[in-house]
Amino acid sequence: MQQTTIHRPVETQGVGLHTGVESKVSLMPAPADTGIVFRRVDLDQFLIEAHGSNVARVSYATSLMKQGVLLSTTEHLLAAIYSCGIDNIFIDIDAIEVPILDGSAEPWMQLIDAAGIRKLRRKRRYLKVIKPVEVVEDGRRIAIFPCDEFHVRCYVDFPHPQVGQQEVEMVVNAQSFRQVLSRARTFCFESDIAPLRSMGLIRGGSLENAIVLTKDGIMNGPLRFSDEFGRHKALDLIGDLALVGLPLLGRVEARKAGHALHTQLVSKLLADTSSWIITTEEREPVAGETTELLQSPAAAD
Ligand SMILES: [Zn+2]
Repeated sequence: MQQTTIHRPVETQGVGLHTGVESKVSLMPAPADTGIVFRRVDLDQFLIEAHGSNVARVSYATSLMKQGVLLSTTEHLLAAIYSCGIDNIFIDIDAIEVPILDGSAEPWMQLIDAAGIRKLRRKRRYLKVIKPVEVVEDGRRIAIFPCDEFHVRCYVDFPHPQVGQQEVEMVVNAQSFRQVLSRARTFCFESDIAPLRSMGLIRGGSLENAIVLTKDGIMNGPLRFSDEFGRHKALDLIGDLALVGLPLLGRVEARKAGHALHTQLVSKLLADTSSWIITTEEREPVAGETTELLQSPAAAD
């Protein structure tokens, strides 16, 4: 399999969920072996690689920080890029936080569709897990195991009549991500809104970009899926796993995890160099798996 980038630049804009700050995002083609790299165009094109070594504070969203420069709420955009198998891309952004758009990854998928994906000449490199790595904390757990595919299993359990126990399990590729996860939106509990606001968070939150769960119902239904919450947690998980920095060959199991645990797993995995190898080998592709997005069969690096 060859590395990929996007065909042409595309852009969108919107408000950040936590800061409420408006930003413009442009996705730009990048050469082989660039990886996924943010560029703060408001700070002289300062580069922040989407990599575990740049993970900053993680609470209600995942933030990257490098040399004091912060970039917040990366997970939905990274989930779309990573699931689509885009190895190399510059994400130009002119403010501190990635726009929340409708709270899902669907608008990002539409933007990637408009950009198109093209192959580069260089071979793709995978991070292949060869030994389990696990993080456990207060009844929450996340682990990664050897596997020839990128496979996730995500279990959530919220004591709410509309949520309860939900589980998503799938091999991650552009098609499965689009169909199963991309449309699932961010959610929050009404009782958390005042505490989050007092912490200076969700300043850009609205009924247009998050599902709000009331004591026993939903303030702004209908849901897109009856298990939209479990699906969204799996979307967040994939966006955080993108911080591994290479396509994963491994099976991830997350149980009542969140951004903090996701990024702890990424850091622990990257630190334990006996738990993975870097390889260009992959199994035979399954017919129709990601080829629908590959509009140009070959192009120059
Ligand atoms: Zn999310």
